[in-house]
Amino acid sequence: MSVTVPVELRRAFAELAQSARARLVVMTGAGISAESGIPTFRGKDGYWTIGSAEYHPQEMATHAMFAREPEAVWSWYLYRRGVCRAAEPNVGHDAVVEMERALGDRFCLITQNVDGLHLIAGNSQARTYEIHGNIDFVRCDVDCGRTPWRLDDDLGRGFVRGDSVGADVARLRCPGCGGWGRPHVLWFDEYYDEAHFRFDSSRRAAVAADVLLVVGTSGATNLPMQVGAIALQKGALIVDINPEPNPFSQMALAGGGSFLRGSGGDVLPELASLLRR
Ligand SMILES: [Zn+2]
Repeated sequence: MSVTVPVELRRAFAELAQSARARLVVMTGAGISAESGIPTFRGKDGYWTIGSAEYHPQEMATHAMFAREPEAVWSWYLYRRGVCRAAEPNVGHDAVVEMERALGDRFCLITQNVDGLHLIAGNSQARTYEIHGNIDFVRCDVDCGRTPWRLDDDLGRGFVRGDSVGADVARLRCPGCGGWGRPHVLWFDEYYDEAHFRFDSSRRAAVAADVLLVVGTSGATNLPMQVGAIALQKGALIVDINPEPNPFSQMALAGGGSFLRGSGGDVLPELASLLRR
């Protein structure tokens, strides 16, 4: 799809490139991963069967379910991880990397995606806030003090729906205390924090943003909505790239920003090119 970037927005990005201080915050959601073929797992792709019962993602992705059925929850996550690791970053991810390279410390990325594709594309860990976690990482279920660690690369590879962790269960234990390791993601019955999910850092980034670029998220979760509201209140220019109108497009238009109806892949490469000096 061809999307025209309005002249005011081209000017704003050119100014961002010229400035020594102006800051860009990019905030991404499932839409940018969908372009790499990754489903949201909030719909039918996230259903999972345990015994004779079928569970919704909103039931599976909870600590309550992990406490009851740790092996089933791990099976679901290893299946999802297999889907994520079979996918590759797309031109939208590449453009976000280009933005970081152009702006350095004046850039920050807040992502709701747990697939790790932004890091794989080349964004830095330091400037990427994975506010819902990363499916490649594990942490101790009882927080014994061990920092999150990376899952072995082969775990989940080739998993198909219905597979179970089986003997791999021993590789999901915490090396610190021997208890359960758990997926390093934010579950529906848990809260954001700074240590694991960069809650405060994300809010600070919103306060300091001159331009907030929202891509492929419709505002279903709490922290992204806060980031948008703070940026709007502080007078940042908000640009929303989404196929459908949503709360962020309303914020963008309310503050004199732009709503570009389309996908990240349609628009981000051109915006990134405007940051080249
Ligand atoms: Zn532990």
